[in-house]
Amino acid sequence: MFRVAVDTPLRRLFDYLPPDLPQGAAKLRPGIRVRVPFGRRRLVGVVISVADTSDLPPERLRPILEVLDEAPVLEASTLELVQWAAEYYHHPVGQVLATALPKLLRLGAGLEATEERWTVSASGTEAAAAGAPKRAPKQRALLELLLSRGGAAASEVLSEHSESWREAARALEKRGWLERSDVARVQVPEPSRVRAGGPMLLPEQGDAVERVAAASGAFAAFLLQGVTGSGKTEVYLRLTEETLVRGRTALVLVPEIGLTPQLVGRFRERFAGPIAVLHSALTDSERLAAWRAAWSGHARIVLGTRSAVFAPVADLGLIVVDEEHDASFKQHEGSLRYSARDLAVVRARLANVPVLLGSATPSLEPLNNVAAGRYTRMRLLRRPGESKPPLLKLIDLRTNAIEAGISTPAALAIERHLAADGQVLVFLNRRGYAPTLLCTACGWIAPCRECDARLTVHLAAGRLRCHHCGADAPLPARCPQCGFAVKPVGQGTERIEATLGERFPGVPIVRLDRDVVRRRGDLDSVVRRMSSGEARILVGTQMVTKGHDFPNVTLVVVLNADQGLFSTDFRAPERLAQTIVQVAGRAGRGAKEGEVLIQTEFPQHPLLQSLLAGSYDGFAEAALAERLQASWPPFSRLAALRASGKTRDAALGFLAEARAVAGAPPRGLRLLGPVPAAMAKRAGRYHAQLLIESQERPPLHHFLDGWLPRIEAQKSAQRVRWALDVDPLELF
Ligand code: ADP
Ligand code: ZN
Ligand code: ZN
Repeated sequence: MFRVAVDTPLRRLFDYLPPDLPQGAAKLRPGIRVRVPFGRRRLVGVVISVADTSDLPPERLRPILEVLDEAPVLEASTLELVQWAAEYYHHPVGQVLATALPKLLRLGAGLEATEERWTVSASGTEAAAAGAPKRAPKQRALLELLLSRGGAAASEVLSEHSESWREAARALEKRGWLERSDVARVQVPEPSRVRAGGPMLLPEQGDAVERVAAASGAFAAFLLQGVTGSGKTEVYLRLTEETLVRGRTALVLVPEIGLTPQLVGRFRERFAGPIAVLHSALTDSERLAAWRAAWSGHARIVLGTRSAVFAPVADLGLIVVDEEHDASFKQHEGSLRYSARDLAVVRARLANVPVLLGSATPSLEPLNNVAAGRYTRMRLLRRPGESKPPLLKLIDLRTNAIEAGISTPAALAIERHLAADGQVLVFLNRRGYAPTLLCTACGWIAPCRECDARLTVHLAAGRLRCHHCGADAPLPARCPQCGFAVKPVGQGTERIEATLGERFPGVPIVRLDRDVVRRRGDLDSVVRRMSSGEARILVGTQMVTKGHDFPNVTLVVVLNADQGLFSTDFRAPERLAQTIVQVAGRAGRGAKEGEVLIQTEFPQHPLLQSLLAGSYDGFAEAALAERLQASWPPFSRLAALRASGKTRDAALGFLAEARAVAGAPPRGLRLLGPVPAAMAKRAGRYHAQLLIESQERPPLHHFLDGWLPRIEAQKSAQRVRWALDVDPLELF
């Protein structure tokens, strides 16, 4: 009898008899995909275990229809991880597998390694001979590269030449000049190996590498704490090298590959051969190809975002989580809500390998694990090249003149740094032109109809947009209520860019936020213009803190540090401190000393004061003490039951009933709520949550196990969308 996980919301496995096939059950093992009858459908499932008995009477058992694999798609430790996640996040195994496996595999695609090949068509050859395409240099370069290799090449080869060849390839495919095909891999190209050596390690780097390497072959968790530019990536590279030399594979998790092409680039520079890169922008067949390269052990380096924590990795030897504090490691939407950072540690434990978490601003959870002796912390205190840490100063917005969001001292500092040939980074965590459109006559404010939010003015685009639901409308010239003129109020990055342009005429300014990246797709060009020194001022959101190294930035101005100082979410201060320190870390990365100015109306606020006095460590210590006192995580365990419905009553009513069916919670466990979310209406739906807080982990999970089936049985559950979020990161 085989227990099979199938992608359904039912929280259990399904029993099947061996297939009526000539080869029978010979190769059936856990991790093998099978096609099974499920009601009237046929579904692809994964064998989880083999059992002697079933709870079902024998006449109701049906046989497996087809065995899809020769070898397991998920090897033992990944399969264990999937089951661990199913239990910990209280989610059906079949649906965890849906997160873990590429879609094409879930639909039954084969596992054998095929190779994606790109071939120049006859018309493509003709066009190239005629010098086309003239206006698309990347496409032209790709065509020429392919022609120089006899007219065809595998995708891996192309990736080694350029990180961004795919866009060009797709454009050429549309023109009919290139053809894509999947062919069986003929000869095995050389596996990943070291291409180039790195610099001499600083003593602290060498020490970190040695300690992690010494732990190989067993589980151990390390926290590598070092400011941006202190050489963490170099440590990852060296440990990856060490892992390859031992014949093992390294799994490297990063926040968002689209934003950190430099990291992928550095791995490609250092290592020859295939690297399996897994991220959310891949097409289904690209994902399958990368997944197969990892599965077959052909790629000895697997680099990916959140869901790559489930990637099949043959001979896993090391796990690295870069920027572990980054919120994108937490999946907080959809059905399976998980933390890839936490699962990475679990996976390391299951596979008996070391795991290294890196950050300039570690989250409080791993810091607490360091304090408790569970993780080993290693620090990189110096930046290579001896540049000094930047000098932080607060600008009191109550006593300084401010014009269009920029205070006089900040404006003077910008002038000074520009005059001294430095570059300036201006940070504001709000994109668009202005957060509000106001009628000065009647007080009307442009609202989003679907959300409890205002519409943001996007002046250049001439649109009003909601940053929560995506609603998009033309920018009105007059108030729809009284016909009087309307005006944008407040600042967004687009407006700051314009303001600085007026204040510093002739100084080239670039902007980096999601609008820029989406509209022009030119993150690259912003980075290039800053790196080359052509642009002198960079205005941006959070996005500027990710990955890019601009060594000539000597001044960072944080325009508004106050969002988050007084939030109801107990994690808001941590996020704010991380953002400030990350942004500040962008100053003075080269030889010149950096300066950081933070504009605030609350210069006496303890959070800002602790950052000034002791940088991030001082803050973290105070914040952990506060969490202990208030008994928030990591000193307690949280889960959030979230619901949304068409009406407020549907969402709140469902949660109230859930609370009622919970009965009296056991000792040490509290139910808080239900309460409407801070922004209750979002995209036309009303959101609410019920928090479950527990002193210890086991009673929480025991409680959830008993409670969830009762919630599922509630009639009111049919009128809402609901999900359980274990270890929620944001409390809306
Ligand atoms: P982080 O990942 O902490 O931001 P990086 O590893 O990217 O830091 O290092 C910052 C810069 O310093 C990079 O340009 C890197 O090549 C360089 N670097 C790192 N380690 C050394 C070293 N031991 N000697 C010389 N340069 C180094
Ligand atoms: Zn009006
Ligand atoms: Zn909206």
